[in-house]
Amino acid sequence: MKTVAIVPAAGSGKRLNQIKEKPFIRLKSKPLLWYALSALNNSPFIDKIVLVVARKFVKKSRGLVKKYNLKKVEFIVPGGRTRSDSVLNGLNLVDKDTDYVLIHDGARPFLEACLIKKVVRAVKKFGACSVCVPIKPTIKEAKKGYITKTLNRKELWDTQTPQAFKKEIIIKAYKNQRLLKTSTDDSSLVEKLGYKVRVVIGSYRNIKVTTPEDLLLAKALLKR
Ligand code: C5P
Repeated sequence: MKTVAIVPAAGSGKRLNQIKEKPFIRLKSKPLLWYALSALNNSPFIDKIVLVVARKFVKKSRGLVKKYNLKKVEFIVPGGRTRSDSVLNGLNLVDKDTDYVLIHDGARPFLEACLIKKVVRAVKKFGACSVCVPIKPTIKEAKKGYITKTLNRKELWDTQTPQAFKKEIIIKAYKNQRLLKTSTDDSSLVEKLGYKVRVVIGSYRNIKVTTPEDLLLAKALLKR
């Protein structure tokens, strides 16, 4: 059974307001992108990695992969305008003999080995799964300045990556152009096709580094 990881890391990084390019920002002397790649590279549950980066960073990323000996990185490809364009570019390079595809944001450095194991086990059993954590706040729906509904917190989840799918399912989802325009993550594409997506409970540490505050939090988490 072959599992390929796709790592989309081709976002603009504009919301981070840093001088250095986002994938290469240093966290404890390692580039941000190294963390997710290294966790996947060291996992016995992952066979190959397809890395998707902005076209201007393909060469620099090749250098990173070589420097840190990330042997499972098979391809480094340029991303697209949206996250789903980037994932699709990665998906196009997944070999025919692949059984499962795991997708993990390059901007989530705190990917733990046990979470990769849980996700790969879940995808083998259920065909589609997404890491989620229970939401912490109380969420309201509001229209024209007034609250119209208080949602049941017990049923609400904050979705993260990794998300993993049988290869056939995720390829089918990505062929549907209409779905691509309206979905914000890979799981929702698959949900809209009518597949059940299994929840894998993750960790609040698995943050996505998007804003300067996230970067501060990431640095604090690394200190512990
Ligand atoms: O933009 P967002 O925060 O949803 O990005 C999640 C992940 O997708 C990040 O790792 C980012 O680099 C990646 N991404 C991408 N190509 C884009 C936009 C985002 O690979 N065009």
